[in-house]
Amino acid sequence: MAHIEVVQIPVLSDNYVYLAHDEDSGITGVVDPAVGGPVVAALEDRGWTLDWIINTHHHGDHTGANLELKEKYDCQIVGPRMEQERIPGIDLALGDGDTFTFGSSVALVFDVPGHTAGHNAYWFEQSDALFCGDTLFALGCGRVFEGTFEQMWTSLDKLRDLPPATKIYCAHEYTEANLNFALTIEPANSKLVSRGNQIRALRADGKPTVPSTIGDELATNPFMRADQEALQNVVGMPGSDPVAVFAEVRTRKDNF
Ligand code: ZN
Ligand code: FE
Repeated sequence: MAHIEVVQIPVLSDNYVYLAHDEDSGITGVVDPAVGGPVVAALEDRGWTLDWIINTHHHGDHTGANLELKEKYDCQIVGPRMEQERIPGIDLALGDGDTFTFGSSVALVFDVPGHTAGHNAYWFEQSDALFCGDTLFALGCGRVFEGTFEQMWTSLDKLRDLPPATKIYCAHEYTEANLNFALTIEPANSKLVSRGNQIRALRADGKPTVPSTIGDELATNPFMRADQEALQNVVGMPGSDPVAVFAEVRTRKDNF
């Protein structure tokens, strides 16, 4: 069965860039290359070359090395159709429901707008891997810059339908700050408290807390649970529209 190996490359202060290597075909992609040097080094360590750059959205800390890497490796660039004019060097523009063939693997593309107007996520079902950029984070979600709260809630809701074992390869290590915020919302959520202990131990050792899983987020991420009674009660909005509850939680985080 088709499978991708994922290599996590920490860059800048808190970004994660990923190599995705299709084991059957040997094809390699890089997801959201903020910078080029560490990507080149990780490829050379493994004797891999670069076939694809996979962009989730247009921000500079996700596309910064697009042109440099395209020049060096003569690779192709896939990115979101809804903001393709803002993706440097784009060759293939995909959107909701499209499939992206990557060697022997296939990713399903989701439109997940909110952080930016045209943000994509890429789901490699056979590898239980989701590359979701700045939409969903471990215990958090992206800031709503270009879209609306309703769009961001709808985007997160879409990701909730993925299998619980799906690994979430998000683009930033924001987990401990997200944990501190989540505990202000739900201090009595025992799953959050125990996950928090694991997160603090990992960070104390300088280890990544990413990837998490959809199952972890469903149980502990306040932004994923705006329609749930327990969460609505603790923010004082029982029975409210999930969009309003999401907007309240997101606004509290913006001011945290
Ligand atoms: Zn971003
Ligand atoms: Fe980012």
